[in-house]
Amino acid sequence: MLFADIIIDISVKNLDRTFQYSVPAEMEKDIHIGSLVQIPFGNGNRPLTGYVINLSGTPSFDISKIKSITGIDRQGIAVESHLLLLAGWIKENYGSTMNNAVKAVMPVRKEVRQKVVKTVFPVIDKEQMKKVLEEFEKKHNTARVRVLQYLSGLDSILYNKGVDYSFIIKELKVSGTVLDSLKQKGIIGIEAARQYRNPASGKAQPASQHILNEGQQYIKDSILSDFNSGIRKTYLIYGITGSGKTEVYMSIIDDVVAQGRQVIMLIPEIALTFQTVNRFYSRFGARVSVIHSRLSAGERYDQFVRAKEGSIDIMIGPRSALFTPFNNLGLIVIDEEHESSYQSETPPKYHTREVAVHRAGMMGASVILGSATPSLEAYYRACNGEYQLFKLEERAGSAVLPDVYITDLRKEFEKKNYSIFSEKLRNLIKERLAKHEQVILFINRRGYAGFISCRKCGEAIGCPHCSVSLKPHMYKGSVNRLKCHFCGYEIPVPDVCPSCGSKYIGIFGIGTQQVEEAVKKNFTGARTLRMDADTTGGKEGHSRILERFKNGEADILIGTQMIVKGHDFPNVTLVGIIAADLSLNANDYRAAERTYQLITQAAGRAGRGEKKGEVVLQTYQPEHYSIVHAARQDYESFYKQEIVIRQMLQYPPVSNILGVLVFSENEESASKLAVVISEIVKQYQTVTVLGPADAPVAKAKDIYRKMVYGKCPDYSILRLVKDRIEAFKEQSTEYRDCGINFEFNFTR
Ligand code: ADP
Ligand code: ZN
Ligand code: ZN
Repeated sequence: MLFADIIIDISVKNLDRTFQYSVPAEMEKDIHIGSLVQIPFGNGNRPLTGYVINLSGTPSFDISKIKSITGIDRQGIAVESHLLLLAGWIKENYGSTMNNAVKAVMPVRKEVRQKVVKTVFPVIDKEQMKKVLEEFEKKHNTARVRVLQYLSGLDSILYNKGVDYSFIIKELKVSGTVLDSLKQKGIIGIEAARQYRNPASGKAQPASQHILNEGQQYIKDSILSDFNSGIRKTYLIYGITGSGKTEVYMSIIDDVVAQGRQVIMLIPEIALTFQTVNRFYSRFGARVSVIHSRLSAGERYDQFVRAKEGSIDIMIGPRSALFTPFNNLGLIVIDEEHESSYQSETPPKYHTREVAVHRAGMMGASVILGSATPSLEAYYRACNGEYQLFKLEERAGSAVLPDVYITDLRKEFEKKNYSIFSEKLRNLIKERLAKHEQVILFINRRGYAGFISCRKCGEAIGCPHCSVSLKPHMYKGSVNRLKCHFCGYEIPVPDVCPSCGSKYIGIFGIGTQQVEEAVKKNFTGARTLRMDADTTGGKEGHSRILERFKNGEADILIGTQMIVKGHDFPNVTLVGIIAADLSLNANDYRAAERTYQLITQAAGRAGRGEKKGEVVLQTYQPEHYSIVHAARQDYESFYKQEIVIRQMLQYPPVSNILGVLVFSENEESASKLAVVISEIVKQYQTVTVLGPADAPVAKAKDIYRKMVYGKCPDYSILRLVKDRIEAFKEQSTEYRDCGINFEFNFTR
């Protein structure tokens, strides 16, 4: 006999309340996860409909009390059914509870209150705005200054169109009273529901549409001709930064939407800048919606409702936008497909690319992946013919690729140059400062420095709750605090070594703060801006810093990997990569891939305008293949070498890795369970077992973490292994104090 768990109302808060019904034998073959069914509910057997979210052979309570499903609702496949089916697939493939999987695909329903979307827009022109701004600056009216500075910095389209009210409140950290007073003074207007509805209104210019170049046109034609003849595929556009991929996406989206199909456009959160989003708004107007992490659950839900009702055709957003409930989805685009944020960090740890391909398959949609540095996975599949590959090898428009110089830091040391700038980089920075061109210094680290350690006993000062070293932080001009980047634990820098009492403790490694100090010392008068997780105040602040840099408020921008796509800096003609090989030392099979990506993306910031750019790549390993190929922007040579290593060591994408994380407050219990799990994995002959061992972070927030890995070329076998472990954990009465998580082919 078959039993179905049913939810009556798909809103996440009710998810934990499922009701079990039996499936009549004649319906068994037609019922699956996601089916909409009729059931008798409650004491009065009220007829209701509900969705099946689980099927099993065993009843979870007294079988005599279980009622039976009375019918299947067949009026078309509702998008809810589709998404639940997708959740079931995610649960199977990545390991998680159905509950977590459903939560990943379904937005939380908002409480009833209907919120009005408001827009803030200047009612005076930019000249007048400047004058008003100066007045407020004189009065040190900082909140108003922030608002007016922000508005003045907008391009003319947005200046006329206005900006989302809640965005201003959150991003600029001002209160509604501040905006009200500006309105009363006749400086700004505030209007309901004006947001992006009619981008062509007012004085705004309609977006200029480029005439596609030959390479772009070829891709567009190929993909659309497939689309129009009913062929659905996954395409990979490998195109260097600035080669015009976004322009291609937009031109294809145009046609797909014109055919009455909907489009999901995924962009990593970090690249979801106003600039990027505005390109889509100006082209597609009110048919576009955006979701991002600044939206509340309710606002997100509203966007999904609009999508379901058919009021929009295009949804732009990060990972979670993939689950937009479009009824007639025609295309999913994943830009910057290599970004690690496309893998979910919490269970289910799904890979957006794979789920997108699966969802597209279910709905008869195509998928376009795009990147300047494709993931090894995507390129491997393209080489195997699973995806169709297109290339764009030249920059669109007039910009050309920058010249790249590699400097060997060991030689600098021999030359007694102990500073963090090689001679070449120092000279080029000086030259730029003299010419009033801008510089970006890229460092693959955050915080002031690597860690503080004792020169006598060699001990690094670590977090007592997590097995990581504490990172030094600067406050008011000197290093005086140590922070744990995992749990937030923070102490003042001790005077003596906590383990041996020696006074000789010091800082190792380099970080953005140190680079900023070195700049100030070496280039007097240079104006700097620094961008890392400490200066940006979370996800919101970084676009403001980039905006200020773009407006010429600084000569040198010092930043970590946050300096990515979405921003063009036409006046940046030099990029210095301070220590290109830092990320090579990461203990992770993707270290070379990540390094190649970081260098290419950083170098891609140089020379985006009329003037040609230069890049200085400083490294201790100038001969390393990821450095050599990144310097030449030669992805294919890099790929050829890297894939051989993956082959040799049986790493993804050639093989697959299942990671099982065991965690518990009780270390002994976690260790024991990890051993049992490794025994289970060993029963599968084609699976190679690694571990058990401490996880890369062996202890976090006082929870001990152990890892067991299984490698196997056949993904489906690893899925069986996962099922076995899950079943074991469920049945076992031991190890109640342990939890387990799964991750397939982890990307970080
Ligand atoms: P990518 O997404 O590959 O980084 P974009 O689509 O953002 O590239 O294009 C890079 C720059 O080149 C943009 O400023 C864009 O407006 C411009 N551009 C793109 N295609 C063309 C074209 N066919 N002609 C002229 N300029 C173009
Ligand atoms: Zn010591
Ligand atoms: Zn900690």
